[in-house]
Amino acid sequence: MSKQRTVSRREILKSTAMAAAGSAALFGQAPAVVTTRRFRAWVTRGGGTSRTTLQELTLRPVTGRQLVVRTEATNLCYSNVGAVLGPLNNPGAAPGTAPRGGGPAAGPGGGRAIVQGHGGVGIVEAVGPEVRRVKAGDRVCVSGTPQCGSCYQCLRGRADMCQFLARQGPNDLFPIADMSDGTAVYANSLIGGLAELMVTNEEWVVPIFTKAAPADLGMVCSCVSVAGLGATTCPTLAPVQPASIVDVVGCGPLGLSAVQGARIAGASTIIAIDSVKARRDVALQVGATHVLDPLADRNVVQRVRELSSTPNNRLWSGGRDSGGLLGGAGADYVIEAAGADAVAPKVEASPDPTGILALQQAYDMCAPGGHVVTTSLPRGKVTISAVTFAIGGKTHHAGQAGGANPMRDIPRFVELLDKKQYNAKALATTVVPIQGMLDAYEQVAYRTTITAIMTA
Ligand SMILES: [Zn+2]
Ligand SMILES: [Zn+2]
Repeated sequence: MSKQRTVSRREILKSTAMAAAGSAALFGQAPAVVTTRRFRAWVTRGGGTSRTTLQELTLRPVTGRQLVVRTEATNLCYSNVGAVLGPLNNPGAAPGTAPRGGGPAAGPGGGRAIVQGHGGVGIVEAVGPEVRRVKAGDRVCVSGTPQCGSCYQCLRGRADMCQFLARQGPNDLFPIADMSDGTAVYANSLIGGLAELMVTNEEWVVPIFTKAAPADLGMVCSCVSVAGLGATTCPTLAPVQPASIVDVVGCGPLGLSAVQGARIAGASTIIAIDSVKARRDVALQVGATHVLDPLADRNVVQRVRELSSTPNNRLWSGGRDSGGLLGGAGADYVIEAAGADAVAPKVEASPDPTGILALQQAYDMCAPGGHVVTTSLPRGKVTISAVTFAIGGKTHHAGQAGGANPMRDIPRFVELLDKKQYNAKALATTVVPIQGMLDAYEQVAYRTTITAIMTA
């Protein structure tokens, strides 16, 4: 029997670390940053409705590709309502209403202390030794969607699906800070926006060069605004063409950003659909040419087809007729942005709290040859006509963040804000300092505001 030399795992790790240290020296990177700052953060622990409390934490040292961002503003995303506020007046929503990135660990049975919040804007305060994308003092968007630039999806132009996005489950998170009793605290989505400091990885940050006010910047850089602007203006999915007919189904901050994106892209008809009158009013303010109430207009699909009719119905002259599977009736682009209710709203009810009806109607109101872009978080399964699905000529685009490629597109969206093409104030209808976060999140949960921005 030949004697083999065994190589221990320790030796391999040691040699790999030496190689990494060598490459770090090659790129002239800084030594590891040791910082033990104290900061305030909303920490979510256990179940129940009082799971989230404001705590003073001590930051752990950052290393590797980690960096610390001093938070200027963060959006209180509706998708995190359950994780932050717990079981409110919930209309049968499943516990798995999927708060993003590490949320379940903070729910019942999850023992970890987590700072929720999956995005924000701020100033880089410290960087780990391997960080190259940004440096201390840079203003950055901490994007809810990362972009590594080197994974399978990023290399195929689908940075909205960057596989680092999946590397934020409970087992991927690392402690970023400690509570005064020594409890380790983790950051939701590797971001933890509901705090004075965010600890994230460089894949999640986009440097931005602007003097915009923090709340406005926090709005346009939020996951919802990026998704709405992405779904309408990014080349990834189905960018809206000038003089086209666009429907936006659901006018939360994402849908209202899609309305604005459609306007910016030059759509001639923008039909916004929502049961909440205040949201329809904002839709008209930011660019919708028509609004529909799906509760009053029971047949919104038919109404959209009527509104989508064009002056020219002569088939020999490029016109559309209104009929059937092969007709031209309907919108050229439909942006679906409804999604499921996390709790029953205190304003007008949704036509369907699961969000499925909105998905079906979005598909049905699209013209043959048109595009359906879905962006929401619905609950359940969709039933659509098999024949239409198979040969109806409608193209469905599904993507994270509306297909936005963070490094390419977020600076463009900030430019739209700076040039006053994007109206952030119309959407950020509640702006609160850190201590007002819980009250503001309840407004988001009950839909009594469009969305809320926490400044820190
Ligand atoms: Zn979000
Ligand atoms: Zn990637």
